[in-house]
Amino acid sequence: MEPFVDVAVVGSGAAGLVAACRAADRGASAVVLVKADLLGGTSAVSGGVMWMPNHHLMGDEYPDSAEAALAYLTAATGGKVPRDTLRWYVDSAGEAVRWLDRETRVRLVAMPRPDYHSDWPGAARGRGLDNLPFDGHELPGFTARIRPPTYFPSITMTERDAMAGPGTSGEPARLMISTPGRLFRSRIRSG
Ligand SMILES: Cc1cc2nc3c(=O)[nH]c(=O)nc-3n(C[C@H](O)[C@H](O)[C@H](O)COP(=O)(O)OP(=O)(O)OC[C@H]3O[C@@H](n4cnc5c(N)ncnc54)[C@H](O)[C@@H]3O)c2cc1C
Repeated sequence: MEPFVDVAVVGSGAAGLVAACRAADRGASAVVLVKADLLGGTSAVSGGVMWMPNHHLMGDEYPDSAEAALAYLTAATGGKVPRDTLRWYVDSAGEAVRWLDRETRVRLVAMPRPDYHSDWPGAARGRGLDNLPFDGHELPGFTARIRPPTYFPSITMTERDAMAGPGTSGEPARLMISTPGRLFRSRIRSG
């Protein structure tokens, strides 16, 4: 390990690893310090869905705006979070998604799921971002160092929704048919 680094990140969950990647992308040397034997923290065993409003991956299919997202967050936080903080989150989310999409191996996709409170002001679909599968073998030994799931199976949320059937996610039935094959391949890929 280098004796001196610009940025030392403690923890290898989503927050820590994205912070380290971002620092390295901006030319800083970075190290991730982890207490656990495996990488990933709670993030590795979570559903992995990010709630990100008003970003380019929503496209024409899921219309959104900063004002709608701000209205929804204002309702959802019940006045407990300052408006400037909410505004900062809404304004930064699109930039963060664009950076992850452009500069990292992470492949995100907008899910058809509605916001939890779909009848509240500013609610929309497509703010939940899922991760597409990736080939862990591109980095030898990588998957063995990630904390394995304890609740969710090793498939994407989109695949999981498709298994639950049309009507639960709005996904077409053909995804259900393709799921067993993809599930099998997912398990192969994750070793
Ligand atoms: C079953 C489940 C499903 C979930 N689904 C979702 C979801 O779909 N969407 C969503 O937004 N949230 C979800 N969550 C919540 C989400 O997982 C957490 O909010 C998120 O992972 C927190 O990320 P983090 O990077 O801050 O922390 P973590 O991922 O927990 O990472 C913390 C890191 O710090 C390390 N660490 C801790 N203490 C020390 C120490 N003293 N020294 C060094 N390292 C240390 C840990 O080992 C770990 O690497 C879910 C949670 C669970 C349990």
